[in-house]
Amino acid sequence: MENHYDAIIIGAGAAGLTAGIYLSRAKVKTLILNEGAVGGQMVLTHEIANYPGVDSISGYELARNMKAQAQRFGCTIKSNIKITNINLNSKMKSVEVGGKLTYTSDAVIIATGGKSRTIGAKGEDIFKGKGISYCATCDGDFFTGKEIIVVGGGNSALEEAVSLTKYASKITVIHQFDHFQALEHYVHEAKNNDKINFIMESKVVEFYGEDSLNGVVIENARTGEQTDMKIDGAFIFIGYVPNTESIKEMVELNKYGEIVVDSNMHTSVEGVFAAGDSIAKRFRQVTTAVADGTIAALSASEYINNIKKEKKFEEPALV
Ligand SMILES: Cc1cc2nc3c(=O)[nH]c(=O)nc-3n(C[C@H](O)[C@H](O)[C@H](O)COP(=O)(O)OP(=O)(O)OC[C@H]3O[C@@H](n4cnc5c(N)ncnc54)[C@H](O)[C@@H]3O)c2cc1C
Repeated sequence: MENHYDAIIIGAGAAGLTAGIYLSRAKVKTLILNEGAVGGQMVLTHEIANYPGVDSISGYELARNMKAQAQRFGCTIKSNIKITNINLNSKMKSVEVGGKLTYTSDAVIIATGGKSRTIGAKGEDIFKGKGISYCATCDGDFFTGKEIIVVGGGNSALEEAVSLTKYASKITVIHQFDHFQALEHYVHEAKNNDKINFIMESKVVEFYGEDSLNGVVIENARTGEQTDMKIDGAFIFIGYVPNTESIKEMVELNKYGEIVVDSNMHTSVEGVFAAGDSIAKRFRQVTTAVADGTIAALSASEYINNIKKEKKFEEPALV
């Protein structure tokens, strides 16, 4: 059966590509289906400086290396496709592409990742990666000795503002309400840090600069008054959106829409595994996506081997 695979992986970011490498190397017939370009969030990253064993690499190059490695082991990768239907709830899983072609498999790994919530302010798209960041662990170091803003008022915003004081000389937290939506501990720590100050009941309405970000326009939510502020960088922590819309009726999700998995990356559905930024977890990095992808692949491989054994057992003996 040409369109039948042992495993289908949905998503070709760090998690999906790693799962593809492990499965294909174990001689498991594997297909990766990806909407958009291969690499996922890695290709949005100018420089990855915290991937172990690699001094510094562009996200594009790391993604290209992972893709080539998976293909060398025999993994089939189809990118820039549109998945039009998914059926995970029978023993034989199926994924329809482009409204006509259907692929089937014994196991599926969901590795669809996610994205940080954006403000939607003028200039945000232009200065993403050129002064605007959504990840303190990834980019904090680039702002050593600089003046930055942090947008948000929840746990992540305040925790990351404090962590960014290791690098930045001055941090202004901008929050739309007059109170924070964070645990008291985070509020206390941020308020007691000399490098951090606050602008409440305000939002950023514009990011501007030339080659990189130079400043923001901030609007007071009550008075509508706008003020200009020169800055070197902006970190935005206003939430995270997992890409789980297409499977939300099929596997268990938590209240944030993240896929619930056990420690072996099993989802609530037999034969369906998940890995990377789309699962319910706290830390989202290339290394954690790679680790999840590894575990999901090893679990899926075990599951597929058991199915193959069962099938052999069910075959009538030759007489
Ligand atoms: C700007 C930026 C900088 C970062 N810097 C760093 C860093 O320096 N170091 C670090 O460790 N981490 C960094 N990260 C985080 C890291 O990139 C991610 O945690 C990691 O790449 C997530 O990998 P993933 O495979 O889980 O998901 P993703 O990379 O999101 O990949 C998911 C893939 O699935 C595809 N997809 C989505 N929905 C569907 C669907 N329905 N059907 C088919 N395909 C689908 C997407 O197109 C995408 O290709 C950064 C993130 C960003 C955004």
